[in-house]
Parts: sequence; C-alpha cells; structure tokens
Amino acid sequence: MRLNDWKIINLPKNIKLARTAGFCYGVKRAVETTKKLKSENPNKNVCVLGELIHNQNVIQELECLGIKTIDDNSFDDVSDICVIRSHGASPHVFEILISKNKQIVDMTCPDVKKVQKKAIELVKKGFLLLILGKSYHPEVIAIKANAQKYSHNNEIFVISNMDELKEIEDKIKKHKKIGVVIQTTQKLELLANTVNYLIPIVKDLRVFNTICPSTTRRQNEAKNIARESDLMIVVGSKKSANTTHLAEILKDITNTIHIESEDELSLYKDIIRNSLNIGVTAGASTPDNIIEKVILELKKY
Ligand code: SF4
Repeated sequence: MRLNDWKIINLPKNIKLARTAGFCYGVKRAVETTKKLKSENPNKNVCVLGELIHNQNVIQELECLGIKTIDDNSFDDVSDICVIRSHGASPHVFEILISKNKQIVDMTCPDVKKVQKKAIELVKKGFLLLILGKSYHPEVIAIKANAQKYSHNNEIFVISNMDELKEIEDKIKKHKKIGVVIQTTQKLELLANTVNYLIPIVKDLRVFNTICPSTTRRQNEAKNIARESDLMIVVGSKKSANTTHLAEILKDITNTIHIESEDELSLYKDIIRNSLNIGVTAGASTPDNIIEKVILELKKY
C-alpha cells in the first residue's frame, strides 16, 4: 500500500496518519522544479542558495544529482543557475546574482511572497512594522530585508515571544501606526497574544494573518487527531520551524514526541506500547518515504 492510500484510511492498530503530513505545495514545487532544472540542463552547474528544505536526505539526494547546496552568503561559489529556496531572499541577494550574470530560478513560495508584499504595503503606508517569527529564520530575514527598502529609516522589529514584545513596548508606544505580519509557519497563538497586547497601547493597528493555508490545515488536522490520541508522533527535522511548532502545539493537547526518523522510535518504546491510539503527522519538509518508514516501524510495536 502506498503512503497516499494510508492517508485515506485509518491504519490497523489504532494508528492514524494525518492527510496533511509531509511536503506542502511550496516545498514540493521547489524540490521538483530544482530536480527538473538539472535534468534539463545536465551540462550546467545548478546550485541552491541555502538548504532547499530542512531535510538532510533530500539535500543528499540533490547532491547526488549534481545540485550543490551552498551557504547563503557564499556568492563566490554560485553556479551558472542558482535556485532561490521557498523561504525567499533579500533584494540584495538578487542584486548580487544579477551582477554576476547568474540565471536565477526564484522558488520563493507564493505564500511567502504574499507576506513580503503585505510587509512592504505596511511600511509604505507609514506603519512601524512588527514581524512575528524568529529573527534568524531565513524567511523572516527576507521579509525584513524586502520591507527595509521602503521603511523610511523606521526600525523594523522582529519578535518571537511575548517577552521580546514587552522589551520593545516603549519604542512601540512612540508610534501611532503599527503593522503586524507573521511568518508563514508560526503559531496562531503568538499572533493572538500579540494583538491582545497591542490593542490597548496602539492607536492605529493593522494586522495581517499571514500564516499560510497549508500550515493552518496541517496544524488544525493534527490538533483534531491529537484530541483523540494518547500519543502523537511528529516526524521531521528538529531544524525545521514548522515541524517544531507543530510538536509544540500538540504537546498542549496530548503526549507528543518529535522524531527525525524511525530509528528514534526505540527511545520511546514504553510510551508507544502503552498507547492505544497513536496519531502521526509530519512537517512540510518531511519526505513521504521517511513517514512511510516510521509507520512501518510503528506497526512492529
Ligand atoms: S509552509 Fe506554507 S509558506 Fe512555507 S513553503 Fe509551504 S506552503 Fe509555502
């Protein structure tokens, strides 16, 4: 039976796999286009600026196909064809690649582009921009850099929790207009708490919920499964923001473990054996074959 069939029915032994587990359309599009690009240009060097997705198996697979992953700032190593990953990139990166006459294949996810547009729209209208997300996340860096071009010297703030918001409260109070966007795979809770906090202290507050529909569907489905499960297993890289958020959300509902591959299941033998209903979901950068291996291993328990 293939993974997609498993997604339609409940597995025996009370194991339920989320239909939304695995690659989102933005990641699928980036991976498939990059592979196709190399197969259509076998004699040209193709590289990806930064990891295409947070999954070492996929990075190795690309490497085997002759597609190099290079560090975000190593412009000297850029090949003839350079892929911009789904997280997007700053205008500065595009300028450098153009100046080096590189062919750019922009795989920025359309949903990430929407956040960049909203952020630009806010700063153009004179709003002080607040981006919700981790400051080191490549998508956040790119959103900030794109908005910065139009920010009229206004500072752009990035916060990932309420403590960080409290630290900048005085600066925020000095501005009448505050605009908020959120990184596409963040938690809705962060947006809701931020808005509640800002309403009493900001006169003109403009908020865009820019969490992408794919993330919303994945989180909602996982929450529903978690409510009926004794244990949730989240599969995906610990470096992946969307996978980590998924595990954090589910921990508030039921016992949850976050694993990168089936090998880690043995560490949780007891809890798996003692759980009657087990739910499985996976992050947007987890390939189907890894989810498949986890399910097969789970069935042995
Ligand atoms: S998680 Fe959402 S924004 Fe990110 S690549 Fe997937 S669809 Fe696009």
